Formats: sequence, C-alpha cells, structure tokens
Amino acid sequence: MSDAPAPAPSDLFDKVVNLCKRRGFVFPSAEIYGGFRSTYDYGPVGVLLLRNVKDAWWRSMVQLRHDVVGLDAAILSPPAIWEASGHLKNFTDPLVDCKVCRERFRLDRLDDPEVCPNCGSKHSFTEARQFNLMFKTYAGPVEGAGAEVYLRPETAQGMFTNFKNVLETSRKRPPFGIAQIGKSFRNEITPGNFVFRTREFEQMEMEYFVPPDESPRWYEYWCAERLAWYRDLGIPEHLLRLRAHDEDELSHYSVGTSDVEFLFPWGWDELEGIANRTDYDLRQHAAHSGERLEYFDQAAGERYVPHVIEPAAGATRTAMAFLMAAYDEEAVAREGQGKGEVRTVLRFHHRIAPYKVAVLPLSKKPELSAPATEVLALLQPHYMCDYDETQAIGRRYRRQDELGTPFCVTIDFDTLDDHAVTVRDRDTMAQDRVPIAGLLDHLRARLDA
Ligand code: ATP
Repeated sequence: MSDAPAPAPSDLFDKVVNLCKRRGFVFPSAEIYGGFRSTYDYGPVGVLLLRNVKDAWWRSMVQLRHDVVGLDAAILSPPAIWEASGHLKNFTDPLVDCKVCRERFRLDRLDDPEVCPNCGSKHSFTEARQFNLMFKTYAGPVEGAGAEVYLRPETAQGMFTNFKNVLETSRKRPPFGIAQIGKSFRNEITPGNFVFRTREFEQMEMEYFVPPDESPRWYEYWCAERLAWYRDLGIPEHLLRLRAHDEDELSHYSVGTSDVEFLFPWGWDELEGIANRTDYDLRQHAAHSGERLEYFDQAAGERYVPHVIEPAAGATRTAMAFLMAAYDEEAVAREGQGKGEVRTVLRFHHRIAPYKVAVLPLSKKPELSAPATEVLALLQPHYMCDYDETQAIGRRYRRQDELGTPFCVTIDFDTLDDHAVTVRDRDTMAQDRVPIAGLLDHLRARLDA
C-alpha cells in the first residue's frame, strides 16, 4: 500500500503520541498546570474517535442482537459490593520499592524481579506488599468510617447487582447478556505507555448469563466473536491474536480466560479479556445480599444460578490500538506539484474515523462559502463533517489525512457553473467529480458499505 518503509515500532509510538497532541486527539491533562501524571483529556478529534469505538461496540453487542440489553450503573458504590465481589480482599497488585532510587514497581510486571529497571541495582527491592487498586472516597460531609465509598474499578459488578432487576423487566431469559460502557478507576502502581494504562479509563463490558452446561460453548463463541470485531474494524490479522491463559494465570473464579492481544510497539499486550466466570459472582452477591439471584426455567421446572461469560474490553486502550494500526506514511508526489514528500495518513476503518467527510471550499471568497455551507448542511445530518477554509488545498488534504478523514469534498469556481464538487479519497487520493445532487448517494455507497 505505501512506498515508504513502515515506521519502526519505537518511532511509531512517538509518532502517534505526537500526532495525537498536534491534531487534537489527546492532550495531557491539566497541562497548563504542568500536567497530571498519566492522565489524559480527549480533544475535539479524540472524543469523536473514542465515541466511534464505543458506538461500534454497542452496535455489535446490543443493537444487532436480540439477546443483549444495556445498562448504565453508578460509579460510586458502597463497600458491600466490593466485599461480595472479592475486590476489597483480592484486587491488589504486588508493590515493591527500590531502596536505592526509591522508584516503585509492580513486581509481576518486571522483566527481572531482582534488578531495578530504573537504576540497575540488584537485590535492592523491599518485600512485596499487596496494594489495593481501588480508589476510596467519602460520601457526604463527614469523612470516616461509615461514609466510605469506592469508585468502581470495573463496570461488571453493576450488571451482577442488577441481574434480578433486568431479568424481571426485560423479558430476557438465559442465554442473555447485559452490556455497559463507562468509566472505571484503578490506582495503578505504574500507569504508562500513553493511554494504554491510566488510572481513569473507559471499559466496554458484557456479562452473558447462560445455563451452566452451555458455558463452554458460549465461552468459545464469545472468544471468536470478539476477535472478529477488531478484525472487521480494520485491525490487520498480523497485529491481533487470541491468547488462552495458563492454569496459573487464571483468576480464582475463572475456569477459562483468553485475551485478545494487539501487537503494540513494546510487544503483545491485552486489549480485552474473555472469561468464563462460572456462577461465582451471582452466588457471592446472593450470599452477601440475601437476594435470590437465580433463574427459574418454567418449561423444565428447574431453578438454577446462571454461569457467566464476560468479554471485558477497554475503550480507551482500544482507541489507542486503532490509532497505532491506522498510522501509515507514504512517499507521494505533492498534489498539484511535482515534488515528492512523505504523507502521513491514518487509514481508519470508516466506522472508526472521527470525521467521515471534510468540506473544503477552494478559497475563502463569499461566492464559494455559500455553496460550501449548503453542501455542509446537506451532509451534516448524515455524517460527522469537518469544515475548513484556511490554507492551501494541498495542506488541508494533508491535515485531513492525519485525522483519517475518508473523504474530502472540494467546492471550486467550476461548482458555480456545473453544480458539481470534487470528492477526494483518503487512501488512493483519487479525485472524482460528482454532481451535488448525487453527492449523498456517492458517499453513502462508500461509507455505509
Ligand atoms: P492488566 O492486566 O493490563 O492490568 P486486567 O487484566 O486487570 O488488565 P481487566 O480487569 O480484564 O484488565 O479489564 C478489562 C479491560 O479493561 C482490559 O483488557 C483493558 O482493555 C482495560 N483496562 C484495564 N485496566 C486499564 C487501565 N489501567 N487503563 C486502561 N485500560 C484498562
């Protein structure tokens, strides 16, 4: 596809991070105050990207199915939930301090647990202590015992605590799922790698409740479905894999977990975990709350606690993977001139691209602004559009390439006579002259395919 060699992995990371800042995808949080460690804000283009990732997930997991319903549960939650789920006791990472340089590390993430990666000292670590990752705060004006609440470290528990409510109101029966997208918070010991690991992030999780004897089959089903989702949205095969956890990696409640992994510049790493959680969660919440969290199968005349298959993905982490996979550089002749240059282009799948169309009047002259705003008004109800009338047209095309906009629509002086516009394709740079009357159909045929 491209003539220039693909950027080396180490360059790719820096190039994507720079582009994110330069083009308004992601900004360091609180930057005017010197930044706030490993926290990020999504800018005008990033918010569209992130929204598209979440919409694509929701479309595939809820809209296109009849067996999954949605939920939006509270972020603030009482200790009782986390007592029952096991998070208060078990949601910990092993923390070590280097006695020489005083840096902190997560022991299970060190390449060599004997050597400090910061200062190189050997055997300089303190005894590992278990550090709970949940953020604790206080509800109401009085701080202290009894007022403690937690920011959820995952969205999943909302689906378990609402199992009965959803069962009673939605007319669903196993196998059925509850899906949720939302923010989660973890006091990570070592956040980093840009938005890959942050303390505040967004998750896309679904709990799929099934009759116990069907759980192996549904586990396989969801592993395949979820891998296909990334592939169908344009992540190339060689950057994706499904990795089954070894026995000793499994959480205590899981009888099977596989991760969808992406080849990041630093190596394979997790985008999503698909776990067969058995009936652990519903039984725990039933025992702690005193509620019956079961399903009564009238036809068979039997009562059972459903087993749960959970595909749990990260929206922010996945957005980063889409950025990494889409980044490309290619040597091209400058459009309209002979000279060569390297063009940077984000080859996003149309569904993921922040803007679908950019409307570009060739000049700022009022005679072109009028038809250009008409074209914009024609397209806006259907597609997220950018409108840009500054700079030379070649530079505007380059800007849209860096935003990953699939189509640019240029209004020029001929438009005034022929009522047609030029449609430029991001990937091929091919230009078609299209009558304004047929523009929407032209774009639909390409964007909605
Ligand atoms: P890790 O091993 O990377 O800490 P995990 O196995 O604890 O992750 P899960 O609890 O399975 O992660 O969470 C599901 C998904 O949520 C992950 O696959 C990831 O995409 C996302 N996620 C988890 N923690 C973070 C984080 N700190 N920042 C961004 N995304 C995260």
